[in-house]
Amino acid sequence: MVKWLMVFGYDVSSFSNYLKWQWKKWKIAYQTFFYNHWMDHGYFADICMEPMFWFVDNFTKFLGPFFVFAVCALTVSVICIAYWIGLPYWWDRNPVATVVLLLIGHWLLINISFHYYMAASVPPGYPPQGALIPEAASICKKCIAPKPPRTHHCSVCNRCILKMDHHCPWLNNCIGHYNHRYFFLYMVFMVLGVLFLIVFGVELAYYEVWLDPADVSSDEDDYLEGHPVRFNNSAIILVPEYLTGNLSSPEPTPSQKRTVRQSCIIYMAFINVGVFVALGSLATWHARLVSAGETSIESHINKSETKRLAAQNKVYVNPYNFGRRKNWRLFLGLVDGRTWRHVLLPSAHKPVGEGLTWPSVHSDIEDDVDVDEYRD
Ligand SMILES: [Zn+2]
Ligand SMILES: [Zn+2]
Repeated sequence: MVKWLMVFGYDVSSFSNYLKWQWKKWKIAYQTFFYNHWMDHGYFADICMEPMFWFVDNFTKFLGPFFVFAVCALTVSVICIAYWIGLPYWWDRNPVATVVLLLIGHWLLINISFHYYMAASVPPGYPPQGALIPEAASICKKCIAPKPPRTHHCSVCNRCILKMDHHCPWLNNCIGHYNHRYFFLYMVFMVLGVLFLIVFGVELAYYEVWLDPADVSSDEDDYLEGHPVRFNNSAIILVPEYLTGNLSSPEPTPSQKRTVRQSCIIYMAFINVGVFVALGSLATWHARLVSAGETSIESHINKSETKRLAAQNKVYVNPYNFGRRKNWRLFLGLVDGRTWRHVLLPSAHKPVGEGLTWPSVHSDIEDDVDVDEYRD
C-alpha cells in the first residue's frame, strides 16, 4: 500500500489535508458571525453587498438634480410647442373652442406644476429624533432607532421615512406619508395633460406631418410667383433669392420652416405617447395599491405574507385595508368636510394623522372607528 502519493515531487496527501484544514478554518470563521441572536445570513449578505448599495445610493443622489432638470426642461419644451403650433391652429379653426381648450389646458398645467413642486419639496415625514414614539413596530438597523408602523429606511436619503412608498429620482425626493398624495395626483394630472395634447394634436399632426403640405397645398406655386427665372438650353430653372442676393444668410424657405414644425410635432408625438404609456401604467398600478390600502413596499410584504400564511392554511389580512371607498378617502384626505374640490384644484391640506400610529382593521372592529374619527 502506498502511504504517500508523490506527484511532481509534492506530497498530495498532506496538501489535500492542508486544504481541508483551511476550509474548516474559514467555515468556522464564517459561522462565528452567526453565533449570536442579532445576526442572520440576510443581514450578513447585506453587509457584503454594502459597497454596491453605496454606489447605487450615491449615484441616485448625485443624478437626482439632473433628473429634476430633465423633467422640467421636457415639460417646458412641450408647453412651448403647444403654444407655438397648437394654439394658432385651433384659433384659426374656432376661437370659442380655443378659449375652452385654453381654460382646460391651464387647469391641467396649474395642477401639474403645483403637484410636482409639492411632491419634490414637501419632506415625506421622518420619525422624531431623540423623542419617544407612541408605537414601535421594529428597530431600524441603519438608524439604530425604533421604527413606527409602516416606516421604512431609505438608503438613498439615509434615514427612516414615515409610510415610505419609494424613493423617486424624478422628484429627487422620497415618497412617504406627507407627499404621497402630491406624487399620485401629479401622475394623474400629467397623464390627463399629455392625453389632452394627444387628442387635440392628432388632427394637426395628420395634416402637417402625415399629409405633407408640400404635396397637397398650392404653397409651392405661390412661392414661385414673383421670383426671377432665367433660361438655359434645357429648361426654365428657378433661381432662389439667396443666389441672386445675399449668399451668406439665406432666408429659410416655407418648406424648410415646415421641416422644423414637423420635427417639433414628431417630438411632441414621441414625448406625449411615451409619457402617457409610462406614467399611465405607473398611475394605474398606484391606484390599485391605494384601493388595496397599501404602499409599494407593503404590496411586496403583503404578497409574501399571504403566501407564507396560505402554506399554513391561514388567510392574511392587510391591517390597513378598510375597503376601497374608505382607503381613497383616507389617501386623498377627504375628511373634515373636504370635498372633491380639494382634489380637482390645488390643495395643500395635510394627510390624515401624524404617520406615527396607524389605526388597523383590527382596532376598527374593536372600537368601531369611523373615517371621520381619524382627524389630526
Ligand atoms: Zn432608518
Ligand atoms: Zn429616499
